[in-house]
Amino acid sequence: MTTSTNIPQHELLIDGKYVKPDSGDYSTIVNPANEEVLAKVARGDAKDVDTAVKAARAALKVWNRMRAADRAQIMYKLADLMEKHQEELIMLETLNAGKPIASVRRQDMPAAIDTMRYYAGWPDKIIGQVIPARPDALTYTVREPVGVVGAIVPWNFPIMIGIWKIAPALACGCTLVVKPAELTPLTLIRIAELALEAGLPPGVLNVVTGRGSVVGDAMVAHPGVDKITFTGSPGVGRGIMQGAASNFKRITLELGGKSANVIFSDADLDSAVPAAASGVFFNAGQVCSAGSRILVQKGVYDEVVDRLIQRAKAIRIGDTAKPDTVMGPLVSSQQMKTVLDYVDIGKKEGASLVYGGGRCDMKGYFVEPTIFTGVEHEMRISQEEIFGPVASVIPFEDEADAVRIANGTAFSLAAGVWSADITRVHQVAHELRAGTVWINTYGYTDIRLPWGGTGESGFGREHGEAALENFTEPKTIWLSLLDKQKQK
Ligand code: NAD
Repeated sequence: MTTSTNIPQHELLIDGKYVKPDSGDYSTIVNPANEEVLAKVARGDAKDVDTAVKAARAALKVWNRMRAADRAQIMYKLADLMEKHQEELIMLETLNAGKPIASVRRQDMPAAIDTMRYYAGWPDKIIGQVIPARPDALTYTVREPVGVVGAIVPWNFPIMIGIWKIAPALACGCTLVVKPAELTPLTLIRIAELALEAGLPPGVLNVVTGRGSVVGDAMVAHPGVDKITFTGSPGVGRGIMQGAASNFKRITLELGGKSANVIFSDADLDSAVPAAASGVFFNAGQVCSAGSRILVQKGVYDEVVDRLIQRAKAIRIGDTAKPDTVMGPLVSSQQMKTVLDYVDIGKKEGASLVYGGGRCDMKGYFVEPTIFTGVEHEMRISQEEIFGPVASVIPFEDEADAVRIANGTAFSLAAGVWSADITRVHQVAHELRAGTVWINTYGYTDIRLPWGGTGESGFGREHGEAALENFTEPKTIWLSLLDKQKQK
């Protein structure tokens, strides 16, 4: 739909139909790379959530009456349609989230399609067990869908993280109400349209756009939502956990990180330094697993800092639609302010700003790649998630010192270790408190491998077979084998 000023206007998508928001309000979606308006998007409220939840509940029966293999076929078809429309989706994601087009093409879009195909393979393989508990009964389990899933998605990887939630939920026979981040809803709205085209029954995948504090809150409070899958900040995650307690909803929380990337003196610096730089500057640092603490053994500290500065200088920042742009803007002026405030905090705490630290001299919410040295482990810039292109380079003495510093935050999502010593990398990998540890590489994820953390990084695991636990409930069935006479 297009408004009179030619700005596209998007409604809610509920029960297979476009629905005007109860509030009559729309938010303005801008391109963070040039601050131009891209679209108007419906601002849903609690009433819209209620309508969507009712549609999702009704659709549960329809979706689960289908053969598992037929549900799989619809998911494969959706993956095919995502592939067919990928140039459109890549451009939408680039413009809406301020991501360089090359990285959306290389990473976000292929990962989203791969995720849909991977989980399309699961519906007819989600099996129970016959457990021979006793001779007088046939005892077995089946795995039922948890029911209606509320999926709350952040703005840093809108399509990829959205599909991380949608695909396994569909594979398990669940229906969904999806709430994209208010700033970046465009690709998930399009995915829901493509899902209808693929043959997904109306009501199975509903999209209610709007504010987190309104739509997200209403989803968490709604008694008809059986499960919330959330990716976002620890503060909002805590509120969701408290809200879910009111009706004992199941929840999965994928939260923040302050990941350590540990470089020992014997590491291959030609590999370690470029990976450490992209580990923190990729997606302008708006990555939950950003290696924002670069721990460097003292013998190579100065050399690593010099090389990191050279890498930061070489990063091409600017127009995200250009194929050679490496770093885009932050997602909003608010996020830019948060990051620049952290730069000030770092300076006031006594860390040395050796590169960057300012807003780029261009339109859009661009911040320079930024490097601090002389960072003490206790400083706020070393303990708190900044979610911007800010690296703290921290020296360490030996393995014990590295592990102490790496494990010394409230987060535990990911970590990296670089060394030529095969025994050391395994020992350190085991000692690091992190859901994922990369050895002599950094930042890769694959939908087949579990993903998640503990503490302020949340709980539960997405990806792979682990995600199926999130969307199914085991049911025990006990069939008596006693003859009727004996049962009396
Ligand atoms: P956020 O917590 O501000 O928002 C996330 C989502 O929650 C958005 O859709 C938002 O609208 C919604 N929301 C906001 N208030 C809500 C409320 N009261 N009730 C329900 N929902 C509400 O996070 P963000 O700024 O969009 O994303 C950045 C955060 O996400 C960072 O902390 C980052 O580390 C984390 N993240 C984690 C992972 C992971 O896999 N662990 C991946 C990406 C991002």
